[in-house]
Amino acid sequence: MKLGVLKRYWDFLPTTSNTSLITLGEGDTPLLRSQSLEKELGCGELYFKLEGCNPTGSFKDRGMVVAAAKALEIGCSAIICASTGNTSASASAYGALCKLDTIVIIPSGNIAIGKLAQAIVYGARIISIDGNFDQALDIVRALVQRYPITLVNSLNPHRIEGQKTAAFEIVDTLGDAPDFLFIPVGNAGNITAYWKGFKEYYDVGRATRMPRMMGFEAEGAAPIARGRVFPKPETIATAIRIGNPASWQKAETARDESGGIIDCVSDGEILAAYHLLATTEGIFGEPASAASVAGLIKLSRKGMNLSKERVTCVITGSGLKDPDTAVKRASPFLESAATLDAVEQTLGWR
Ligand SMILES: *Cc1c(COP(=O)(O)O)cnc(C)c1O
Repeated sequence: MKLGVLKRYWDFLPTTSNTSLITLGEGDTPLLRSQSLEKELGCGELYFKLEGCNPTGSFKDRGMVVAAAKALEIGCSAIICASTGNTSASASAYGALCKLDTIVIIPSGNIAIGKLAQAIVYGARIISIDGNFDQALDIVRALVQRYPITLVNSLNPHRIEGQKTAAFEIVDTLGDAPDFLFIPVGNAGNITAYWKGFKEYYDVGRATRMPRMMGFEAEGAAPIARGRVFPKPETIATAIRIGNPASWQKAETARDESGGIIDCVSDGEILAAYHLLATTEGIFGEPASAASVAGLIKLSRKGMNLSKERVTCVITGSGLKDPDTAVKRASPFLESAATLDAVEQTLGWR
């Protein structure tokens, strides 16, 4: 049985005797050894942390379960978020579980269809604005100043607390921290959370070292890598289409304390990694997820020697959320009459 993040890591989380032990079965996601890219890139060891295996298909569930439990604990009856999609899917699911009124504000036209379907089915109130994620977040921040609603974006510290459990799991599975952690960066909450998790495990002696944090933004939405706000962020990887990340400084701290980097990859590199992951490893992550692998490929092509290193790439969300991107680039299907003969001929087997 799945314990869920709260039960499994209770002592490491901001829990009290009044915290409800809610769960949808989040966490305990697979850490898979690479079957192909490890050799191709010459990594000592390469692993993928499959966060798409969480209940709503992204890592957001780890943080949302803690944020929702804490909202219940203080007697709050409503939660709200701005979202590029996955936060709204997760907030809506935990909102339904906890009978919280859930309001999600999304940028119109820039949400993957699967994520929208989730918020609809879980029964959230959805407001689509004619603006981008950063504008949606500004509105949400103003609303929570005026009304007794809990903000469940990663500005909510309980989100970060829950998300750090992914770092714990990697150490628990490998027996120690990896040398490098490659991770997509959008609003920069997750890189902040992983770094917090690795540091906490190191501090209590569960790990003997800490990884270098290797964050990757998309080229058209690369505020941290370029050192400036992107007022009109653009990328196919909608989950990281963010021009002014809320956890900007904390991400820089994670980078600097760990001796890592925050760099960016182009949409072309993201899509190439997205297809490579699916066709050579059997892993279908959403485009934003592939930014971690695109970053690893980029550095390896630039000559970075990883032959003695243990590397983990975080695959942040499931590819099923964004079927449009998958289908759009499909080569045309072969067509055939509905007979054995015709199919054999189409396959070139006769
Ligand atoms: C939210 C999200 C990200 C970005 O994480 P941040 O904490 O905003 O940096 C990356 N990939 C997926 C699939 C996401 O849902």
